[in-house]
Amino acid sequence: MKRKLLVWAQIIAGATLLGLVIGGFMNNLPQKKEKAKYIFLFIGDGMGESHVSMTESYLSYKKGKRGGEQLTFTRFPYSATASTYSADREITCSAAAGTAIACGEKTNNTYLGVDSKGNPIESVAVDLKKDGYNIGIISSVPINHATPSAFYAHSTSRYAYYPIMKSIPETGFEFMAGSGFINYFGKDDKETGAEEYLESKGYSVCFGMEEYEQEGKGKDKVILCQEYNKGKNAGDYIAGEKKPENEICLSTMLECCLENIGSKDPFFIMCEGGAIDWAAHMNKTMPMISMIMEFDEAVAKAYEFYLKHPDETLIIVTADHATGGPTMGYGREWKDDRIDWRILDSAWTAAGECNTLNYEENEALNQRAFIGWTSSNHTGENVPVYAIGKGAENFKGRIDNTEFKVKILAE
Ligand SMILES: [Zn+2]
Repeated sequence: MKRKLLVWAQIIAGATLLGLVIGGFMNNLPQKKEKAKYIFLFIGDGMGESHVSMTESYLSYKKGKRGGEQLTFTRFPYSATASTYSADREITCSAAAGTAIACGEKTNNTYLGVDSKGNPIESVAVDLKKDGYNIGIISSVPINHATPSAFYAHSTSRYAYYPIMKSIPETGFEFMAGSGFINYFGKDDKETGAEEYLESKGYSVCFGMEEYEQEGKGKDKVILCQEYNKGKNAGDYIAGEKKPENEICLSTMLECCLENIGSKDPFFIMCEGGAIDWAAHMNKTMPMISMIMEFDEAVAKAYEFYLKHPDETLIIVTADHATGGPTMGYGREWKDDRIDWRILDSAWTAAGECNTLNYEENEALNQRAFIGWTSSNHTGENVPVYAIGKGAENFKGRIDNTEFKVKILAE
């Protein structure tokens, strides 16, 4: 009998101990994380660490200092560095990098919203749309260009511009903005124009602020483009050319987006500084810097929003890759340890805030100022990541560009 009691006591003690162990373990399990209600993802196309440093050095020069001035986003409390290689190249293109950021998978260069075998994969924007988020996709370059398209299209060719444009209505995204559309009238310029097509599918397509005020503001589904691209192919952004008076800048696009989708429901906004890359391809230092400053103005708008909703907002700023390989420093002598911003600044302002020099003249100007550029294309180094707000602590240390989606979704 005594023995039986002892066995029972041992069983009860064992069960209690097991319960304690399981209970303790459960308490230590990570709590299910909740994603931010308002999410801003800024992508500076081609904006490597060096591009950011150069911009801050120029801003410091303007204040009569050697350094110390900062952009809005470099003040964010969390930062990381992200690898950018694609599935088939050490150096990515914007399509593969956009897909990695948007969809969380490496793919081949020129592939968009598909894996390396060509199977469609969904973007973080599509997933969040299913979760009841309003979606805004904004870019300073055409809406059917690689980076914005990575959030809504599926194609093994980023150059299938017309079919990419036609896939916009399938997303049901609430707000899109960009310079316009490449291949506006499709094959042989003979298909339905982008505006007519998208309006037939329920979008209010507005070219310029006047049309936006009259036909876009407050509508459910809006697409905002530059006035000068109405009814035609959106041309290339020419780095260094003086901007048209009526150009809608990135921060105004973001303002219109916020005004339209509001803060009643949750939202996800991707905002791309696409023209940074185009200026860097042409090795135009001051146009590249001015594009980063314009990009930062848009980030500052998001930061204003964050200050009103600090517990519910996440802002991430990163790049898809770096472009042009610029360095602060060029030359072989010890005395070449400075940047002569005066040379670049006066050439820039003398020409009425433009740089229309040809390639050789432009290269000579950079070198006289001790700025070196090593490539006309993309480069393969890691890119910086900055974050603030709810879930920002997940963006620290070394990450890969396929990790943005899971970190945004807090999975
Ligand atoms: Zn590029």
